[in-house]
This record gives sequence, C-alpha cells and structure tokens, in this order.
Amino acid sequence: MILQKKRLLITGVRNRRSLAHAVAVSALAQGAQLAFAVQPVDKAHDKTTAILNEDFPGAPVLQCDAANDDAIEAAVTAAATALGGLDGLLHAIAFANRESISGGYHEHIDRDGFALALDISAYTMTAFAKAALPHLSAGGSLVTLTYLGAERALPNYNVMGVAKAALEASVRYLAFSMGKDNVRVNAVSAGPVKTLAAAGIGDFSKILKQVQQQAPLKRNISADEVGDAVAFLFSDLSRGISGEVVHVDAGFHITAGFNEEQ
Ligand code: NAD
Repeated sequence: MILQKKRLLITGVRNRRSLAHAVAVSALAQGAQLAFAVQPVDKAHDKTTAILNEDFPGAPVLQCDAANDDAIEAAVTAAATALGGLDGLLHAIAFANRESISGGYHEHIDRDGFALALDISAYTMTAFAKAALPHLSAGGSLVTLTYLGAERALPNYNVMGVAKAALEASVRYLAFSMGKDNVRVNAVSAGPVKTLAAAGIGDFSKILKQVQQQAPLKRNISADEVGDAVAFLFSDLSRGISGEVVHVDAGFHITAGFNEEQ
C-alpha cells in the first residue's frame, strides 16, 4: 500500500481504455484517495462519469475543460476541498486536429493547429501545476504522460511530437521551479497502447507491430504497467526523483527505432 493517505487528482479519463483509468486503478489498489477532473463533452461525458462512479465509488468527478484556466482552477480547488488537500496530480490530456497527426508534418500543419496542440497537450500541464501548488502537501508529486515522439521524429506523430517535447521541457522547468516548495514533477513516457487518443494517430497498428518486433522485451506494454509506474512516482518510494522522464515502453526507446518500410 504505497499510496496510503495520498490524495490524488486524476485528469484524462475518457473510458476504461484511458491510461488515466489504469493509473486510477493502480493508485486505488495502493490505498490512494481519488478525485477526477474529466472533459465535459456532451453524451460521452455522461458515460465517463458513469464509469467512474461505478469503478471508483465515492470519488468526486469534476468537469473541466482544460482549454479554460478558470475551469482548471475551479476543478483543482474543488478536488482539494473534497479530499482535504492534495498530494499529487496526474495530467493525462492531449489533443491535436486529426489531420495534423497523419502524413507529412509540414504538409498538414498550420498556425492554428500548432497552437491548439501545444495549448491542450503541453500548456495544460503547467496550468494544472500552477493551480495545484497552493493545495499540495510537502513531498507532493505531479506526473504527466508523454511519448517517444518528443525525442525522435516518428511517422505521423507530427505536431503531437512537438507538443510532447514542450511538455517534457515543462516537466523539467516545473521541477526546477517547484522544487523549493518540495514538489516533484515527472513524466512517464508510455509505449503505444490502443486508446481513443491513439486511434487518431495514423498507422497506429503498424507502430504496435514494430514495437513488438523491436523492443528488448519483444512485446507491447499494457496500460496497467503505466498505472503502476505512475503509482510509484506518486509514492514516497520515488522521493528522490524529480524532472525525470521514465520510459515504460518495454525498452523500445533504446533501439534504433521505427522503420517505415516494415
Ligand atoms: P484517452 O483518449 O483515453 O485520453 C486523452 C484524454 O485527454 C481524454 O480523457 C480527453 O477527455 C482528454 N482531453 C483532451 N482535450 C481535453 C480538454 N480540452 N480538456 C480536458 N481534457 C481533455 O487516451 P490516452 O492514450 O489514455 O491519453 C492520455 C495521455 O497519454 C495523453 O497525454 C497521451 O498523449 C498520452 N500517451 C498515450 C499513449 C498511447 O499510446 N495511448 C502513449 C504515450 C502517451
């Protein structure tokens, strides 16, 4: 029970395939108290709330459009009030226009598409961190989810890779500036997992196949492996770790990478 008495705000659950859902399952199994901030999207939002009420009974579910700073502030404050403070927050939010995450990067990007992807997928981590800081206990831990496309140019990932690079740099700068408040900030770089967000990326099944062939462990990862790694980063077992990007990708990142011909 490495998360006993830890009060965590989880963002980014859309359905039971969401990596954030797996994080919540791992955190609950380790004794954490949870609150959720979910994107208010008409009918789909109702489904998400129903799933969370069923799987995590009693956990507050707050609506929060991460494009809006007031909504972030309100959700974080409501979660902290409901839980009596916060010991951690998971940021698991990303968005880009579908046409900008398929095909050639420069052919499918424009100023608005670039700004949108960077705003929702990168800036929101900083916005949540700023909102959470006054509520965080000493030793508080902020975690976000990133992908190898931040470090390498990969087919189709395009502006999302640019956004993830900004997200990873944000992790380092947040860790640097919030360290004096005894707050840690880290990222988990997850291998590909079939989720709603992943479905938008061109040739996703090809990516899964190549990871299975080339990763040192000769397999893809599962969402629960991301959940367990994030649980570790929320826990005091990782108290000496900040500003880090931990790869949970069956070791794929150490290999030569993707081969478009395969
Ligand atoms: P997902 O579709 O289940 O989650 C994405 C979440 O982002 C959704 O819950 C959605 O509601 C939320 N979101 C998007 N725009 C929002 C907004 N304006 N306000 C509030 N929430 C918003 O997919 P996922 O794969 O679980 O994605 C979670 C995170 O994990 C993302 O940052 C993604 O880039 C990252 N990641 C995913 C993979 C993968 O292969 N699935 C790999 C590495 C990193």
